[in-house]
Amino acid sequence: SKLLNDFDVVVVGGGPGGYVSAIKAAQLGLKTACIESRGSLGGTCLNVGCIPSKALLQSSHHYHDIMHNFEQHGIVVDKSAVGIDVGKMLEAKAKTVTGLTGGIEHLFKKNGVTYLKGHGSISGPNEVSVALNDGGNEAVSTKNILIATGSEVTPLPPVPVDNAVGKIVDSTGALDVSKVPEKMAVIGGGVIGLEMGSVWSRLGSEVTVIEFMDRLCPAMDKELTKKFQTTLKKQGFKFQMKTKVMESEVVGEKIKLKTEKSAGGGEKEQEFDLVLVATGRRPYTEGLGLDKLGIQTDKLGRIEVDSHFRTAVPNIYAIGDCIDGPMLAHKAEEEGIAAIETIAGFAGHVNYDAIPGVIYTYPEVASVGKTEEELKEAGVNYVVGNFPFAANSRARANGSSEGFVKVLADKDTDRILGAHILGPNAGEMIAEAVLGMEYGASSEDIARTCHAHPTLSEAFKEACMDTYDKPIHF
Ligand code: FAD
Repeated sequence: SKLLNDFDVVVVGGGPGGYVSAIKAAQLGLKTACIESRGSLGGTCLNVGCIPSKALLQSSHHYHDIMHNFEQHGIVVDKSAVGIDVGKMLEAKAKTVTGLTGGIEHLFKKNGVTYLKGHGSISGPNEVSVALNDGGNEAVSTKNILIATGSEVTPLPPVPVDNAVGKIVDSTGALDVSKVPEKMAVIGGGVIGLEMGSVWSRLGSEVTVIEFMDRLCPAMDKELTKKFQTTLKKQGFKFQMKTKVMESEVVGEKIKLKTEKSAGGGEKEQEFDLVLVATGRRPYTEGLGLDKLGIQTDKLGRIEVDSHFRTAVPNIYAIGDCIDGPMLAHKAEEEGIAAIETIAGFAGHVNYDAIPGVIYTYPEVASVGKTEEELKEAGVNYVVGNFPFAANSRARANGSSEGFVKVLADKDTDRILGAHILGPNAGEMIAEAVLGMEYGASSEDIARTCHAHPTLSEAFKEACMDTYDKPIHF
């Protein structure tokens, strides 16, 4: 139809990368369409990722608080009378998700983005054909195409996932478990596994993390993840490190896992009530027609782009989980904005040195910039500033003072190169470090900035004092 001609930008994929790009493009006056096959906007993040996981983390945190933390505040509850209604918890989660995905649809209308529900494939440099969810096909012509098709779970061949059966699940299945499993195995000690493991651990599961490497989240600062692991152990997590899963079998209500040491030997058979496979995600570009266009993917399936997110075809761009870089919603959004600004003739840019990463456990883990290992490896002359939450008055008043702030700064210039936080509200606090880094702050700049008392963020200020001088309270 005539309406579907002459777009300035067609965005394929309606996740945080795609929908943010589409809204930005429309705001810049570009005629924009967004194609999404899922039936709702928001992608992995809103539908089966960031948001539903945080809803369950919040719900399970309340339960855990009642059972374990209320007493220290002098609140007396009859714990035997406290129950869990998993169904209601899932309902609340689903309501959050539909509220937010519907909100994006509203934003599309408000900004004049054309929303096409269907699977898009790129039939030529200026044409996308859409297999509509309701049947039929539409061809859309456009000056530019932005690929934001995201990622999917990477299968782990010895442990095939079946979310419908609900015994061996991936993260999507783990968000819909209908009753608290007695014993749960989490295969893969990364962000997603530890968050979902936390949900069910707080609700009463005995959670065992099986990890191939000798440490959790290997890309993060080592000191941080070591202390994080100790914290999780105290909460009842069990860890089988340097271990790989060789075989799995569902036998009635149970799942049998055969494991051995990563280096070989030490075979074991163990039984669980729920197994979560959380070993990684891979770019999703199926049925897009990249080959015919001559658009390359690397050996991990990521679309190759230049520093302006251009593929080998100059008017086709790609951003988010389907290209290189951390698989994070805010990274996808920043790239989307930059790509659209480039298309609109502005200078779009993403600073990859200042992309925060957060693990939403309790306490939270948050990082930005270089790890100590990376600085060592690069031969950078650096200093470390540390401050424990045990010495922060607000954390003490809250009765939640586990963790610490670690700041890494250049020894010669004092410029902040990285910040790593384990502690209550770390995910909010890291924003201060990111902002500082974007402005090229020295640790002294932060240390001389007045922070309200008593707040957790004073711990960040004092870690900065420790970097260039001495903290007051430790
Ligand atoms: P996606 O969100 O994957 O969106 C791509 C969309 O494109 C999908 O909806 C898909 O249906 C659609 N699509 C694909 N191909 C086509 C096609 N050909 N035609 C039409 N539509 C198509 N990140 C964070 O930053 N914070 C978190 O707390 C966090 N928690 C997570 C928890 C879990 C359990 C999971 C799984 C992920 C989490 N992530 C988190 C990662 C985050 O979800 C992703 O990084 C983010 O969604 C990537 O955005 P995207 O737009 O690139 O891709």
